[in-house]
Parts: sequence; C-alpha cells; structure tokens
Amino acid sequence: MKLIRFGAPGEERPGVWLENAGPEGKPMLLDVRAMAFDIEDYNEHFFANFGLERLANLLREPGRKLVPAEGVRLGPPIARPGKIICLGKNYAAHAKEFDAKIPETPILFSKATTALIGPADPIILPEGVTRVDGEVELAVVIGKAACRVAECDALNYVAGYTVLDDVTDREAQRAAGQWFRGKSPDTFCPLGPYLVPRGEIADPHRLRLTSAINGQMLQDGNTADLIFNIPFLIAFISATITLQPGDVLATGTPAGIGSARTPPVYLRSGDRIECAVEGIGRQNNPVAQAAP
Ligand code: ZN
Repeated sequence: MKLIRFGAPGEERPGVWLENAGPEGKPMLLDVRAMAFDIEDYNEHFFANFGLERLANLLREPGRKLVPAEGVRLGPPIARPGKIICLGKNYAAHAKEFDAKIPETPILFSKATTALIGPADPIILPEGVTRVDGEVELAVVIGKAACRVAECDALNYVAGYTVLDDVTDREAQRAAGQWFRGKSPDTFCPLGPYLVPRGEIADPHRLRLTSAINGQMLQDGNTADLIFNIPFLIAFISATITLQPGDVLATGTPAGIGSARTPPVYLRSGDRIECAVEGIGRQNNPVAQAAP
C-alpha cells in the first residue's frame, strides 16, 4: 500500500497510489476522503486511530472512488508533522567526507516543518544562496506515541517509511554553529512520494539509496551502513523526547554529497535532483531561483 496526498499545496487530500489500476495500465489514486469523510488527512489522529488498518479495508470495498493519477500534483505523503528530527553523520563514509569525525552518540538536529514540499515540487534557492546540495535519506514516520521505548520494541512504533531529501545551505550550516537555519529554508525538504507501511518493508536496514543531479549519480549507499540503526535511534530519542504519531525521523545520508566533491557540485537553477530509496519511492524535483 502506497499512501500519497494529492492536490494543490495546502489543500492536499489523502489518497492511495494504485499502480496499473486504470485503463491501459495507467496509475490511479484512491480518493480516501470521498469514501471515508472522517479521514481528513494523514495526521496525528489518523496514525493514532488505526488509520492504516482502515485504509486497507477501504481498498477492499466494491465502490472504490478512483481518480486518474496523471497530471495530479502529489504533496508530502503525510500532513505537516509536529517535528522533523534528523541525524547528522549517520553513515561512516559520509562522516569522513564531511569533517572526518565519526560520532560516538547520535547527532540530532531539526528541520522546520515549513520546509516540506512534495516529491516533484520545485526547490527554490533563496536570493544570494549559492552553496546548496541535497541528501537522500530513508525517513521513518512514527505511528504511535513513543516515550521511553525499549530498543527491542521500537519498530512497533513505526507507521512506515518514505524518502526525504535533506536539502542544505552549506554556507549557513558551517557559518552558524548550529544547523537549523541552513537546513530549514522553505522548500528544502522534499518528502515522498509514498509512505509505505512498515509491514511491507522486510528489512529497513537493507535498502539501497541514491541521489542524482541531471542524471549524474552522486550518492549510492545502503541503509545497511547506518552507524545508529532505527531501533537504537527511537530508543535514544524517546528516552527524553516523546515522539508523536506522524513525526518524521530522517536517518542520515550516505557518502557522495555534491559539496564534498572536487570541484563541488551545488544545485543550480534549472537542475533536477532525483532521490530514491529502493522499494520505497523516487523523487524528482526541479531547482529554481527565487524571484527577486
Ligand atoms: Zn541529512
């Protein structure tokens, strides 16, 4: 099951992506709210109240309300979350290319939730910001409130997985002594296209993840190389910070980022960046310059 949200920015409706369900094998979208009026969105309430189980039931109903997927804009696959928690340097090879220091405990930082955009929306470079690159990441979406969760029980708190591009203004990141400003400009967090429920991913620690700019591969890693794995991270974070349904945990990025190359590869207006995680989904975002 692939959860999506579709429609204009800020007016997205919850849906399910159905590959090959239309005429001539074209993809269709299940219009969830047209069938279940009380499912307003994929938000905290949805995840906390057996939303995924209800969706599975809707898919089996005879009178499914379907719309063609072609030409429809996809938003982030979840409603605006309470928080986006990110991991810094959670792949050893990336830690080496960044500043050669391998962390002994997880480095946490946050991205503003206002940075979220859909999987094909433009990434807008603010005026005067020239050193921007992307980071493909496996993102975990929390399914139920997690407070002081044991590592052995942690995956039970996961609703599913999606793709997150942790777009970063490197100049602001390195200048400021903290990362929030460089990580949080509007549009700097493409999410999606799909939220794939946890039960459909056999092993989240064995997924290839890649990023490419204009078709040229930059990153090619595997979640098998995470320094701190997902159960450890959920236990570590929830020891002091309650994770709420719908919260996003970005697990870190593998080696190969453009800014660590010689010469560096930064995102320019007119570029396209593709971020993909095996079995989860693929983004394709154009890059544009902010209007003066
Ligand atoms: Zn990152």
